[in-house]
Amino acid sequence: MAKDCLFCKIIAGEIPSDKLYEDDDVFAFRDIAPQAPMHILIIPKQHLHGPEAVMEEHERVIGKLMRKADYIAKKEGLSHYRLVCNNGADAGQTVFHLHMHIIGGRPLSWPPG
Ligand code: 5GP
Ligand code: ZN
Repeated sequence: MAKDCLFCKIIAGEIPSDKLYEDDDVFAFRDIAPQAPMHILIIPKQHLHGPEAVMEEHERVIGKLMRKADYIAKKEGLSHYRLVCNNGADAGQTVFHLHMHIIGGRPLSWPPG
């Protein structure tokens, strides 16, 4: 657990969240400011500050993150969805604990702004 990390505090239950899924490696909860009818965040329980912090030793957990993202999306009734990982402030990252957005429930345009 990283000191002063919002998402580490959510995993620990120190900050409440609308939890959808949890196992030994990953945790998923609804985004507090949804950008679509369905907007879920899935995160590794281990604190990694973002995609660039992923090393070879994390490949199993990051693969699981994507597999469980699909499982959660389907469980929530989404067959079409978008997965987004922002790396760095200019890419839109505001919370520096790696997270994958699962977004869906409306048509999504491309490219993003
Ligand atoms: P980023 O912009 O870093 O890719 O995504 C961070 C996401 O975390 C944002 O979509 C934001 O709405 C969400 N978020 C920020 N604070 C909280 C919170 O306290 N609870 C929940 N559930 N989501 C949060
Ligand atoms: Zn963290």
